[in-house]
Amino acid sequence: MVDATKTKKVVSSSNTRKKTVSRSRYSKAEIYEIFAAFEKDNPEPEGELNHSNEFTLLVAVVLSAQATDAGVNKATKHLFQIADTPEKMVALGEDKIREEIRTIGLYKNKAKNTFLLSKILIEQHGGQVPQTREELEALPGVGRKTANVVLNIAFGQPTIAVDTHLFRIANRVGLAPGKTPLDVELKLEKVIPPEFMQHAHHWLILHGRYICKARKPACDRCIIYDLCKSKEKILKGTD
Ligand code: SF4
Repeated sequence: MVDATKTKKVVSSSNTRKKTVSRSRYSKAEIYEIFAAFEKDNPEPEGELNHSNEFTLLVAVVLSAQATDAGVNKATKHLFQIADTPEKMVALGEDKIREEIRTIGLYKNKAKNTFLLSKILIEQHGGQVPQTREELEALPGVGRKTANVVLNIAFGQPTIAVDTHLFRIANRVGLAPGKTPLDVELKLEKVIPPEFMQHAHHWLILHGRYICKARKPACDRCIIYDLCKSKEKILKGTD
């Protein structure tokens, strides 16, 4: 775990070139307190994408790119009733998958990916969802974030899936400032105490979705208000 006491640190290299490295604004003890508060508030956080097994979880996450979980759940309600395995999805065919999910953005491409990934699961993985990042990321429509969600929820691996909410919070609150989702993911992995890693991304995503919202954070309802060092923190009683 890194020493996370300063926002920025100037690092000197042997040739005196100086580089600015963004650091967490919090001490180890403060970060512990933040996640302990999340855990106390919601000991068993869950994702909001409906699924009945590892395969439907994978498909739901693929469909959720640039779409809301509620929109995906609406579209998959019937789809997963008729195709909850790779075999049934392939039998359904790309055209029918497209029909089922036509209310979701980018549905044509997503239907193609859903069909192809189902085919690959059958041909290369015995109809099972693979449990490694490399194998998951080799599937059509599956990037690092999707792989992290599946590894975490389906297989209990302590991964951090950085979505738009998590990226915003890590930077706004100053837990793990970073220019890219990967920066944020790697920094969070370093600063989050191991005992909180399994649920950390759920807590942060839910916090960003319902409390620390993009336009107007609900600081008056925030359980980490006293710990938060965000410049955008709205003083209680003024909003
Ligand atoms: S106090 Fe406000 S800015 Fe800080 S984490 Fe809570 S909602 Fe976000």
